[in-house]
Amino acid sequence: MKQFSLNLFSFNVMLPFKIHSPETELYLPAWEKKHVKVTLKRDDLIHPFISGNKWRKLKYNLAEAIRLQKNHLVTFGGAWSNHLLATACAGATFKFRTTAFVRGEEGVNNPVLAMCRLFGMQLIYVERESYRNKENLYKTYFGQDPTTFYIHEGGYGILGAKGCAELVDELQQEYQHIFTACGTGTTLAGIANAIDKRDALTRVHGIPVLKNGGFIQEEVDQLYPNIAPPILHLNYHFGGYAKTTADLLSFVQNFVTNTGIMIEPTYTGKLLYALDDLIKNDYFTPADKILVVHTGGLTGILGMYERFNFIDVHQ
Ligand SMILES: *Cc1c(COP(=O)(O)O)cnc(C)c1O
Repeated sequence: MKQFSLNLFSFNVMLPFKIHSPETELYLPAWEKKHVKVTLKRDDLIHPFISGNKWRKLKYNLAEAIRLQKNHLVTFGGAWSNHLLATACAGATFKFRTTAFVRGEEGVNNPVLAMCRLFGMQLIYVERESYRNKENLYKTYFGQDPTTFYIHEGGYGILGAKGCAELVDELQQEYQHIFTACGTGTTLAGIANAIDKRDALTRVHGIPVLKNGGFIQEEVDQLYPNIAPPILHLNYHFGGYAKTTADLLSFVQNFVTNTGIMIEPTYTGKLLYALDDLIKNDYFTPADKILVVHTGGLTGILGMYERFNFIDVHQ
């Protein structure tokens, strides 16, 4: 125990990483008409590359790696993974080597992977079939290596959820509702657990960005078996992970033009679209205060910009 606190101390010394994530009120005419108050938790401002919930999910993984005296982070992700970029940058910042198993063919390249390499990350490409068995990949490459530390794809896990729970401690006011987008469900689980522990009346909502998002409830149960289940809205996946529709793209375009806050179609676009839809369908009670977590991940838009059919929303 003594050693643990000692290492946490050195972790804090090593990580003079004061995060900045203000709560910003959003004023959109259609939402004001329904008399709800929407506030954005700007986790996207935490860091340009260790962005949003990815910093929160990495924080206690890094602490654990330091405690175990590991200096090499190994993780997994797709070719546009915000988690890979965050891990690469965190590794460079806090003096870890980093390696990622990338789902895809050898030589796949894009701006996100190029930035991962710039941060010194070693990329190992694996085809879909072997990518499925991550433990096995890890064992094959690093089973005998005492320096490596395994981080789940997307930062999934209890250490990740613990970091996400801190978001709730930072809040400046009480909200009736908190909304977040879900990929692995780690962020949602961390928030739901923090709210559950406080006995707060806040309802926690998740917008799964994948098809058949009901599995998110199982992931939350795995992490925290005894908490009040969050509310999942399963109909805002727009066809599946990284799928878009013209409707979603024009929503993103309108939102960004009217607020000056960047969002992207994979996570935060679906999240805010869902919120907008729920508001317009009178899901909320007038005067409800709603917090929406901007989980960052804006480099994702680099792989999608060609999908936008830019329109003049001022007309
Ligand atoms: C990774 C990511 C998520 C998904 O978070 P989970 O904790 O895996 O559910 C949501 N939003 C953005 C922008 C992300 O990059």
